[in-house]
Amino acid sequence: MKAAQIIEPNKPLKISEIDTPIPSGKNVLVKMKAVGVCHSDLHLWEGGYDTGDGFMKVTDRGVKFPVIPGHEIVGTVSEIGDSVVGIKVGDEVLVYPWIGCGDCPTCKNGDTNLCEAPKSLGIFQDGGYAEYSLVPDYKFLVKISGIDLEGAASLSCSGLTAFTAVKKAISNSPENILIVGAGGLGLMGVQIAKALSNAKVICVDLDDEKLKIAQEMGAHHIINSKDPEAIKNIMSVCNEKGADSIIDFVNAPPTVKLDLSVIRKRGNIVLVGLFGGAVDLPLVSIPLKAITIQGAYTGNYSNLVELVDLARSGVIKPIVSKRYPLEQANNALEDLKNRKVMGRAVIIT
Ligand code: NAD
Ligand code: ZN
Repeated sequence: MKAAQIIEPNKPLKISEIDTPIPSGKNVLVKMKAVGVCHSDLHLWEGGYDTGDGFMKVTDRGVKFPVIPGHEIVGTVSEIGDSVVGIKVGDEVLVYPWIGCGDCPTCKNGDTNLCEAPKSLGIFQDGGYAEYSLVPDYKFLVKISGIDLEGAASLSCSGLTAFTAVKKAISNSPENILIVGAGGLGLMGVQIAKALSNAKVICVDLDDEKLKIAQEMGAHHIINSKDPEAIKNIMSVCNEKGADSIIDFVNAPPTVKLDLSVIRKRGNIVLVGLFGGAVDLPLVSIPLKAITIQGAYTGNYSNLVELVDLARSGVIKPIVSKRYPLEQANNALEDLKNRKVMGRAVIIT
């Protein structure tokens, strides 16, 4: 099969013919139809994350190169192992990629996305930038006939992560939610926040074109963070009290400084982005304002099933603006890096 592999960080992905995996036992071989290009693929390709005082290498976290990236995988079942139940050849499926060790209490509780020994597809094992993907267990598939397949791809990461983050953000019944970053995740966040709450949605980005899409997706207010009046404008639409909840899909020093400047008393900050860096925390104002700062990482399988149902009902419409053949996987990553992608780009076969 044809596959795109990261051989080493920052070098072009190698696109070549490799052996097609053969499924056995509970394995399922999925013929890829579409795979989303996530900003996390870029961090993987760059080899790690900025920690503020250094670089956290993905290889120190268990990644082994070469690896086939891609964790937003949609396709049709092409072959099954002999212990597979309830899934047949030809079924249209979305792959749940956030696989764990399967044995720890967290995995047994269903939260495989939070396992301390993750085996996520497209990160710790081969993923979807290929004609076929081997899914280790049929229980990680969601049947998706009846919904747009290219759009459905982004549900397994950008949609699912935004879903988890919004659920955390609405736990304090906010009157308003500030969404920072109107990229693949943020635009999902705007739609999901509108679907799950009555809060006023304010969206911040540094790109007016992306903000325009956020408005089309239902954001009540859009604010460009490059505007010197950005903080004043956010406070003004929050009745001068500040944002009740903030979801930061960038999570870099300039955005977190903004979050801390506009968070309301009793407010809730959910950090999602992996852009990285470090900030000084104003320690006294955290207890005085009784704010909560928490992280969110993808979501569990049941959340994905719930989200697919929401998408099926038409409440969430994933935005796919660009399509690339597998041979152009490098171009897809470059375009995302150069901020040329609105919503999601997908690689298709
Ligand atoms: P994307 O490239 O599609 O979107 C990023 C958006 O942030 C763009 O619209 C960009 O204009 C905006 N932006 C960048 N810097 C900004 C700044 N300083 N101020 C305001 N806006 C700014 O990326 P994506 O696929 O949506 O992913 C976003 C981040 O979330 C990435 O770091 C990704 O790795 C991470 N991520 C986290 C999880 C998780 O579970 N926590 C899951 C998936 C992705
Ligand atoms: Zn992702």
